[in-house]
Amino acid sequence: MSSKTNPQRLNVLGLGRDQLFSLIADFETQPKKVSMRVNQLWSWIYCHGISSFDNMTNIDKNLREKLEKVFRISRLSIEKKEVSNDGTTKYLFCLEDQSKIETVFIPEETRSTLCISSQVGCTLSCSFCHTGTQKLVRNLSSQEIIGQVIAVYDDLGLWEKMKNERCQSSYFDIITNIVFMGMGEPLLNYEEVKKACNILMDNKGLDFSRRRITLSTAGIVPKIKMAHEEIGCMIAVSLHATEDKTRDMLVPINKKWNLEQLIGALKNDVKLRNSERVTFEYVMLDGVNDTNDDAHRLVKLLKGLPSKVNLIPFNSWTGSQYKRSNKDRIKAFRDIIIKSRLPSPIRKPRGEDIMAACGQLKSSSAKEKASI
Ligand code: SAH
Repeated sequence: MSSKTNPQRLNVLGLGRDQLFSLIADFETQPKKVSMRVNQLWSWIYCHGISSFDNMTNIDKNLREKLEKVFRISRLSIEKKEVSNDGTTKYLFCLEDQSKIETVFIPEETRSTLCISSQVGCTLSCSFCHTGTQKLVRNLSSQEIIGQVIAVYDDLGLWEKMKNERCQSSYFDIITNIVFMGMGEPLLNYEEVKKACNILMDNKGLDFSRRRITLSTAGIVPKIKMAHEEIGCMIAVSLHATEDKTRDMLVPINKKWNLEQLIGALKNDVKLRNSERVTFEYVMLDGVNDTNDDAHRLVKLLKGLPSKVNLIPFNSWTGSQYKRSNKDRIKAFRDIIIKSRLPSPIRKPRGEDIMAACGQLKSSSAKEKASI
């Protein structure tokens, strides 16, 4: 193993500014300079994508050498990369404890989204979700969450391109949006996700606006208001049903926090800011949740709450018990929602040929184990 990847050294990629400050304070002989050093490091790491202290030319050589001895700036290592025929790119990352996670880059003309993971596996066991069949191994650290983003920046050569983001005519090859819709439930890994979001939003670094980051939750009710207030980014809720008996079956966390508690918290506790909406994800499952009655109930349920409903045609996986609703059914469902003046786009499945579409992620380590 090279000294650059020596896990004995602390990885500073994904540590907050405050943590970086206390670490640097031990090395900088002039206390007044600590803030300046943190700013310099931050800029090298998050604006220039530098992965070695040696290259930080505005930092005293002596200090660089000392830092290099005890710290490292490691991104995640790409174990496998697959590119779909629609341009969607799926990364399989191998973590230092050999756990595997997946991250998906979804390019579009008007915006390009990076879908990142917050946990290895998931505990929620939603019955239509492939990731849910992989038991949780553990939460990701903020280093591992940020490590996904930085590894993709490196791989796609984004450091230069992102600098010119505002002059771009096409957004096909930069990251404009980040969604926590990969593996795991972000609100069950709240502190590390919050730390990672603060790094993503830092305006002297990666500089994603809070409106370009979305936390998707299956409905961890007490954490929704907290996330909205403390982190400030956009919230998406995986709704998928309009009655408790169906939602209990599809999203079992509903047995803990039911529809009334979930929608009640969104309507009464979350104080939406100017023109902000809650996004609802609704997977279209043939004969399960896709009738006109479901659509009418959905409209009634969301009445008074500024919302948007993303309809996701079910993405199938081997062993799943569900079928995708047919096109006409999805359109009829959408028309009812649109009539009530809620935006309701039908999501175009992306990266299906490489199993990178919503809910298809499951790291190969688990797949391999499962097939033994
Ligand atoms: N745990 C969080 C984050 C995962 S986001 C959450 O539940 O929101 C993944 C999104 O894809 C969720 O909206 C999920 O419900 C949806 N999804 C899962 N499996 C799917 C499948 N097979 N087809 C379509 N969408 C799916």
